[in-house]
Amino acid sequence: MDESTTAVGIDVFNEEQFLKIIWEDGVISQYPLYGLRKNCPCVMCRGGHDQMQNFEPGAFFLENPPRMNIKGLKPVGNHALQITWIDGHNSGMYRWDTLRWLDPENHK
Ligand SMILES: [Zn+2]
Repeated sequence: MDESTTAVGIDVFNEEQFLKIIWEDGVISQYPLYGLRKNCPCVMCRGGHDQMQNFEPGAFFLENPPRMNIKGLKPVGNHALQITWIDGHNSGMYRWDTLRWLDPENHK
């Protein structure tokens, strides 16, 4: 993972069900919301402290996934993004390097 990667623009498209991130090197990533929630990096969603790097990029490619809206975004320092989901879940701190790695384009 590239530790120096940082997002310079973030847009939520709840209607269309994706999150768009513009990176400082000009790359644009689009994350289907259901897959993003499935890859929530919090301990509970990952299934324990020994599973913290155990992500599931395959979840981005599910056909007809359940709708999953984002209620709020908050930067965490300059290295991560806290996402508050419509159901109130917000314990996941999505690191920029994790998000960049998760980009569905990297997992086709
Ligand atoms: Zn979580």
